[in-house]
Amino acid sequence: LAQLYGPLNQLGFMYRSINQSLVDTEKLLQLLNEPTEVNDRDDATALVVDAGEIEFDNVSFSYDKRTTALSGVSFKVPKGSSVALVGESGAGKSTILRLLYRFYDLPEGGGRILIDGQDIRNVTQKSLRAAIGVVPQDSVLFNSSIAYNIGYGKFGSSPEAIEEAAKSAQMHDRIVTFPDGYDTKVGERGVRLSGGEKQRVAIARTLLKNPPILLLDEATSALDTSTEKDIQKALQNLVRGRSSLSIAHRLSTIASADLILVLKDGQIAEQGTHTELLALDGIFASMWADQISTSGGLATPVADTTNL
Ligand code: ATP
Repeated sequence: LAQLYGPLNQLGFMYRSINQSLVDTEKLLQLLNEPTEVNDRDDATALVVDAGEIEFDNVSFSYDKRTTALSGVSFKVPKGSSVALVGESGAGKSTILRLLYRFYDLPEGGGRILIDGQDIRNVTQKSLRAAIGVVPQDSVLFNSSIAYNIGYGKFGSSPEAIEEAAKSAQMHDRIVTFPDGYDTKVGERGVRLSGGEKQRVAIARTLLKNPPILLLDEATSALDTSTEKDIQKALQNLVRGRSSLSIAHRLSTIASADLILVLKDGQIAEQGTHTELLALDGIFASMWADQISTSGGLATPVADTTNL
């Protein structure tokens, strides 16, 4: 997923100088990705989200038609539940998120991705993306006020709603230390935010957007313990009541996920809860043992994402 945000940062810079008020991350993502990869069908309809249940049904995908990124992947994210993706670099975690957000369409014979029973190839991208909130590893900040940066999750949000979202995202206490509070300019030409703070801004934005489905990409960079705790609390507030798919690099952060999928070479090698997977004594258990031995179970990434 990070691959989408690198160019986005550069493009975002150009866009900010052109017309800041019209910029929104997902529009930029569409500009970057839509024309080449995905087109709406002539008879595309709007996605109707009821429970927000996600299903991958025998999904296989290749970026270049030679190497396999995913092969025969099937799983469900039932209403309001949290599913975490783990596995070594290149295992296919980001590909699952990209396909659900429809940066690429599955080819004929490549299986189906359904939301509340609707094949996402048959719905408009606009309606699909309106139903999905994305919290990337690295969020784009506009050279504007912190209130603007949070508020564009939902244009027209009141200052009270923005503050409430910031509180829920564990960011309010930090914002009130800024010279002009919520009016303080942030970004390259304002107050610089740390990676953990930017991620909480993204969480606040997404809380305002209030989507039924969430895609989360946990930051790989090591965070100090108190930042880590703040982010975990913010994420708990965000994930509650929504169907979520997250890429996890720190196994300790997903102990409470409803289901963990362990990917290996584009396939689901193991699945279960944290406890079940430890009892299985397979790939997950050995990843867990590695993390415990190197970090005491805390903030060490299991995967190198520099290739994204
Ligand atoms: P990481 O932990 O490093 O983020 P990942 O599990 O998210 O890895 P994916 O990015 O989903 O892995 O990659 C799955 C496979 O698809 C890998 O073999 C990767 O090299 C390949 N791949 C990913 N993106 C592209 C692309 N844009 N073009 C071609 N191949 C790609």
